[in-house]
Amino acid sequence: MTKPVIAIVGRPNVGKSTIFNRIAGERISIVEDTPGVTRDRIYTTSEWLGHEFSLIDTGGIEISDAPFMEQIKQQAEIAIDEADVIIFLVSAREGVTDADERVAQILYRADTPILLGVNKADNPEQRQDIFDFYSLGFGEPIAVSGAHGQGLGDLLDAAVAKFPMEDEDDEDDSIKFSLIGRPNVGKSSLVNAMLKEERVIVSQIEGTTRDAIDTKFTAEDNQEFTMIDTAGIRKRGKVYENTEKYAVMRALRAIDRSDVVLVVLNAEEGIREQDKKVAGYAHEAGRGIIIVVNKWDTLKKDNHTMQEFENHIRDQFQYLDYAPIVFVSAKTGVRLQNLPAMIEQVSENQNRRIQSALLNEVLIDATTVTPTPAINGKRLRIYYMTQVAVQPPTFVVFVNDVNLLHFSYQRFLKNQLRKTFDFTGTPIHLIPRQRK
Ligand code: GDP
Ligand code: GDP
Repeated sequence: MTKPVIAIVGRPNVGKSTIFNRIAGERISIVEDTPGVTRDRIYTTSEWLGHEFSLIDTGGIEISDAPFMEQIKQQAEIAIDEADVIIFLVSAREGVTDADERVAQILYRADTPILLGVNKADNPEQRQDIFDFYSLGFGEPIAVSGAHGQGLGDLLDAAVAKFPMEDEDDEDDSIKFSLIGRPNVGKSSLVNAMLKEERVIVSQIEGTTRDAIDTKFTAEDNQEFTMIDTAGIRKRGKVYENTEKYAVMRALRAIDRSDVVLVVLNAEEGIREQDKKVAGYAHEAGRGIIIVVNKWDTLKKDNHTMQEFENHIRDQFQYLDYAPIVFVSAKTGVRLQNLPAMIEQVSENQNRRIQSALLNEVLIDATTVTPTPAINGKRLRIYYMTQVAVQPPTFVVFVNDVNLLHFSYQRFLKNQLRKTFDFTGTPIHLIPRQRK
């Protein structure tokens, strides 16, 4: 299901990233007095009273070389284009400023529900002053203090109340996937080439968020797929589209909505630092992953080229050892017809559930072949293992002492699971738990 999106907008220094980090649930140990230092993360998912949502800090998207007012304008437009609810943040300390009014002027044009949060209302006196902000024309100001974490509950209550109604028809059995990768690897060419091969049943379904354009198609075996629209695929001709932070934010959102993510690399240019970043996001999100090497037509090949390229990828993306690799060309169409079946298989593996009885057979075999390690004379004992979740498959391992279950033995157990069951394309998580 598509989560509602909340975007925070406002001029610099009102406390957007402070509030963002609060809601993201991270304790900010050092809140530095330099604006912009907490600028790293701008997209997260969170939950308030059982309502899941995505959160964007538009302040983190910088349009390089744009003048101050233009930055603010672009950020407000991103919020209007992306969000279901906008939190317009101002500061009780400074009162209403020209820049606040500029933001307000842009937001007046939006149909999106807008909440006015007055930050830095740290004490009762400042909370009295918030009524000046009625003049901005967005109704009742909500006093918050990012520094003290006060008022955030009220703000989130108000945001949740404005979420769009959940559409029952939204749920479907199609497999959702996206293509991510740095610019120019050939994502949009792949999208077009893939869709040419498939029976597109409903093109361009409007998502709950106004801009998300997904495409549904049916493969030969009648499996339905939904291709999630990703930044850089369908351009909307907006100024901010070419900024890296925006592209990252869109990629994170696409990953979030996907069962399976195709990490697209460019055979012609090889692997770049940015490829690793992009792949890292998908891995951390626990999604199914297929590594797609595009532009395979551009290489002069001999019998070893594919193996060498694969070795290079394995070396550069060691944490993705579970992801299958496929060498394709959007230009010639080579092996594109394999993709739907691969996506389907990976999605199935992501959702695989193993009965505890079977898991414990694997465990007995594993510990017989490779006895559990002992540290300082104390031997690791594994009592049993049980699967607690899918997407990704997650297993709780009950042991006598969690400190004895080292990384290397965890990796060994994961490998044993992979040898016995098909988990190709999906990470698997182990959670050690102590049982006396
Ligand atoms: P942004 O540019 O809007 O993202 O603002 P930041 O989150 O970077 O915050 C700007 C400055 O305001 C930082 O020095 C924060 O420590 C400070 N700040 C944020 N929230 C509060 C608050 O509730 N009270 C006070 N007194 N300072 C705050
Ligand atoms: P995106 O930015 O990742 O969406 O990349 P595009 O799909 O726009 O492709 C970037 C460029 O690479 C375009 O000029 C495409 O024609 C070219 N391209 C894409 N796929 C292939 C391919 O498989 N082979 C070759 N030779 N060129 C490709």
